Amino acid sequence: MATFEPREQIQAMSGYHSPQVDVPVRLNTNESPFPPPAGWVEKLAFVASTLEWNRYPDRAAHELRTVIAKRHGVRPEMVFVANGSNEVLQTILLTYGGHGRCVATFEPTYQMYAQIARVTGAEVVVGERRADMTLDPHEIERVMQKHTPAVTFLCNPNNPTGLVEPRENLEILLQHATGIVVADEAYAEFSDWSAMDMVSEDRPLAVTRTFSKTLSMAALRVGYVVAPTWMVSQLEIAVLPYHLDAFKQAATIAALSFTAEMEERVSLIKSERSRIEATLASHNIEVWPSGANFVLFRPRSRPAADIWQSLLNAGVLVRDCSSWARLDGCLRVTVGTPAENTAFLDAIDAAV
Ligand SMILES: *Cc1c(COP(=O)(O)O)cnc(C)c1O
Repeated sequence: MATFEPREQIQAMSGYHSPQVDVPVRLNTNESPFPPPAGWVEKLAFVASTLEWNRYPDRAAHELRTVIAKRHGVRPEMVFVANGSNEVLQTILLTYGGHGRCVATFEPTYQMYAQIARVTGAEVVVGERRADMTLDPHEIERVMQKHTPAVTFLCNPNNPTGLVEPRENLEILLQHATGIVVADEAYAEFSDWSAMDMVSEDRPLAVTRTFSKTLSMAALRVGYVVAPTWMVSQLEIAVLPYHLDAFKQAATIAALSFTAEMEERVSLIKSERSRIEATLASHNIEVWPSGANFVLFRPRSRPAADIWQSLLNAGVLVRDCSSWARLDGCLRVTVGTPAENTAFLDAIDAAV
C-alpha cells in the first residue's frame, strides 16, 4: 500500500520558523543590521566572471579552507565549510547522530540542534539550565554519565539567552564526554572568549562559526567548523559531493579580505547592546547580560505577547519567545543600528 506520510520523526515536527513581517525595524533574527562592505559587493561581478561555470567546483574547497585556516592559525585539514553553520550542524549530526544514537542539549538553547538531530533519527536528551539560565556543572556531569550522548551541543554565547558560558563548563563537558562536543560560536565575535584554542587532535571538540551574523552575509549562506583532522575527514564522507558551489567559494574568499572592516562594527554593536541592556533594566524589565548581538528580556508590567504586539504596532519586530518552553514571558531583541535601537527603546518606553 502506498504511503504519502512522512517519517514519524518528521510528522512530530512543526519545523523552525521565524515569522517575517514587513515592518520598518526588523530586530528578530540576529543578523547584522549593516550591509556587507561595498568593496566586496562591487567585487562579486568580477568574481562571477572568472569562474569556469561549466565545471564542477573544487569539491574540497582547498583555497577557501586555507584562507579560513590561516585566520584561526590552524591547518586547512582542520576546517570544514558548508552552506551556513546550520548545514555544518546537520553534517555533524548525519555523521555522528542518527538512529539508535543520542544527542544532548542544555535547554533553553538553539532549537535547531534538537530539530536536526530528530530529522537524522537520533534521540534527543535534554539537560536543564537553572532558572537564571546559567548551567550547573553537575547537570553537565549528570547528562554525560546518564546518557553517554554521541553528540553534545554547547552554544556559546547561548542563543536565545545571550549568556556567555564559563570556560570551565566546556572543560567539564569535555572531561565527561563520550562522544563529539560541539561548541557553537555563531556569536563569538561579540563575546569575551572562544574555544577555538582548545581544538586539538586528541579532543573530540568541534567549534562552529558563521558568516551570517558579524560578517553581514546571512544571504550568502556560509558557515564552517574547526575540528580535529579525523573529524573533518569523517564529515566529508557524509556531506553531498560539490555541496559548496564555486561562486560561494570565491565570494567567501573575497569576503575574508574585508574582515577588518566588518570587525570594526562589532564594537559599535557591543556599545549599543550596553545601551539596550541599561535602558531595559531601568524600565523594571528583567534583562540577561548578553555576550552576543541580541538581548533576552522579560517585561514585568504586562504580558510579553501584548508588549510584542505594541512594539509591532510601532513598527518594531522582535522575537516573541514567550510561548517557548522555559522562556515564559521572554522577548528577544537583536541589536540593530543606533536609530533602530532608539526606535525599539522608544516603543518599549511607550509599551511597558
Ligand atoms: C544563527 C545561528 C546559527 C546559524 O547560522 P547560519 O550560518 O546562518 O546557518 C547557528 N547557531 C546559532 C546559535 C545561531 O544563532
